Amino acid sequence: MDDLKVWLQNMLFPSVADVVVLSLDVNIAIVRVDVRCTTAGASCPLCGTWSDRVHGSYLRFPADVPSGGRSVVLRLRVRRFTCPNASCGRQTFVEQISGLTRRHGQRTERLRSTLSDIGLALAGRAGARMARVLGVGVCRSTVPRLVDALPEPSRPPRGWSVSTSTRPQIARLRHLHTLDLGHNELASVPDELTELPLTKYLYLHDNQLKELPRSLGRLTALRHLNLGGNHLTSLPDTIGKMIGLVELRAGHNRLIALPESIGRLHQLRELWLRGNALTCLPESVSDLAELRHIDLRENALPDVPEALAGLSRLRHLDLRSNRLHTLPSWLPELPSLEKLDLRWNNIEPAPRLLDLLAQRGCIVWM
Ligand SMILES: [Zn+2]
Repeated sequence: MDDLKVWLQNMLFPSVADVVVLSLDVNIAIVRVDVRCTTAGASCPLCGTWSDRVHGSYLRFPADVPSGGRSVVLRLRVRRFTCPNASCGRQTFVEQISGLTRRHGQRTERLRSTLSDIGLALAGRAGARMARVLGVGVCRSTVPRLVDALPEPSRPPRGWSVSTSTRPQIARLRHLHTLDLGHNELASVPDELTELPLTKYLYLHDNQLKELPRSLGRLTALRHLNLGGNHLTSLPDTIGKMIGLVELRAGHNRLIALPESIGRLHQLRELWLRGNALTCLPESVSDLAELRHIDLRENALPDVPEALAGLSRLRHLDLRSNRLHTLPSWLPELPSLEKLDLRWNNIEPAPRLLDLLAQRGCIVWM
């Protein structure tokens, strides 16, 4: 029996290390493969620390490439680990199996790759029909969405320096919904990229960007913008034109200030600014009426910014590792505040203020 399992494993997952096949269930339409990861632990995706402290586990059912005309679904038990690094922002994380799964992915990496190949050859409805013929049930929008999400890690080109010939073509993708250019070596944002009137998700994180063009403000349909992990010292003032923005990520840059125009982002719910060099926030931040979450960890703030005082929907305020000495008296008046993290500052004790926050049900870390 064990020999059979090893054989199955080698046949089903020839290029995936660290998985074991537990059982195989074949019926007329579906093949279900029970799989588990065999590593003793996993590395935290945020800080890289290895952990073997299992916090829990649950089942995932990613669709896999079909076999003999049958759909294949994996029944994969994944573990959630506790990150042992006390200064890491991720308390727990879920293991991913290299070459097989990705975070929140409903399909295995090889099925994703197959579908995007189909999508590159046959767009839209034709692509979805072709996938169904092959035994993969997908809706019409899935195939083009997977193509939109290219390039994937295994799929060159990396960076504009080698793909300048594709630049003018980008502007023709008038209906592009998502553009993920994260983890490349982009040193600048090409102008063509700012001519995508319907793009809602733009990922430019983990590149080499030192500045952004003012034309970026033309992307007025954007809802999610990720600029994290670059070398930006400022954001263009035209960012205030992206009035539909719900989430702005600009952590791990070199920002020393934010533009005043940020206050025009009235839909903004999440603002991620960890790991910059901010010493203050513009007054206009007080106009961000929808803001729920602000991450200001690892900046150089000498005070809790006054502009936060009027944010009636703010739930999470993270001020870890700044230069705070005192706490303002208005903190307990933030009506929605649920979590306040003040660790790694130099704050004088303020027991009355903390009592008031605790009475209101706000969790405070000092
Ligand atoms: Zn961690």
